[in-house]
Amino acid sequence: MRRMSKPPLVASKVFDSCVSTVSDAASRARLQAISPTTPRTATYYEQLAVNQGLYSIPHQTYQPHDVVTGAATRKDFNDLYELQMVVKSKPSRRYYDELIARAPAKKCPYCGFGHARTLDHYLPKAKFPSYSVLPENLVPACRDCQSCKSANVAVAAGDQTLHPYFDPNFFFTERWLHARLVEGAEPSIEFFVACPEGWTADAISRVQNHFDAYELGSRYAIEAGEELTNIGAMLSIHIQKDAASIKAELHAQAAVEQSLFPNSWKTALYAALSVNDWYCDGGFRV
Ligand SMILES: [Zn+2]
Repeated sequence: MRRMSKPPLVASKVFDSCVSTVSDAASRARLQAISPTTPRTATYYEQLAVNQGLYSIPHQTYQPHDVVTGAATRKDFNDLYELQMVVKSKPSRRYYDELIARAPAKKCPYCGFGHARTLDHYLPKAKFPSYSVLPENLVPACRDCQSCKSANVAVAAGDQTLHPYFDPNFFFTERWLHARLVEGAEPSIEFFVACPEGWTADAISRVQNHFDAYELGSRYAIEAGEELTNIGAMLSIHIQKDAASIKAELHAQAAVEQSLFPNSWKTALYAALSVNDWYCDGGFRV
């Protein structure tokens, strides 16, 4: 998980820019009619988001021509995104590119390692069409995270995955991602969630839900498997090193990783290896 500040884009400017190039006159008129409500929509979204309350926004499964807001339909909102913001030749595409370019080191904030090359609707546009081009609802993401995300919508506070723009800092600064080494001829790494003391049931449920929804356990295990081979090869070169110095080295590396990203797979991996006696005492050689 990586924290991001909220986009510096003005919601009404983005909305109006997208609407201005809608070629269907009737659709454009329906969207223009609700343009004055955009600032209110953005404020409403943000206030709920910072209070971890987006789950409370009513939603439903809309058919394309169902009216969502004013006279604007689900199709109007959907096309606004798909045909005005995503299409490369359209002027509003600059907002799409700008939002993706904000990804920290081009990494997906949901998983922290995938290449962020698409935009994810935190509240899916099929069920929350009004937020289809709302910058606060558009998060740069990797294709894996985007495809993992289920169509299920959170209906309770604890169901919600983490929102990189709005969730409290402790989700990003306190450690909840951990790993354990599975010893054996072919050692492997298992990732799991264990939250610090004092977290609320909702907070615990949210990170577990985030971990599950983006299939982080299996995806991190793949990354960590390769790293494990590299670390083993590196340590095997220094055959004179004893278990204590290997432990200290791995511990130092874990501290470096943790100072960068407390909940990265690397932090969890190095921390798990540094406390494993079997591994440090030669297990890395297998
Ligand atoms: Zn991702």
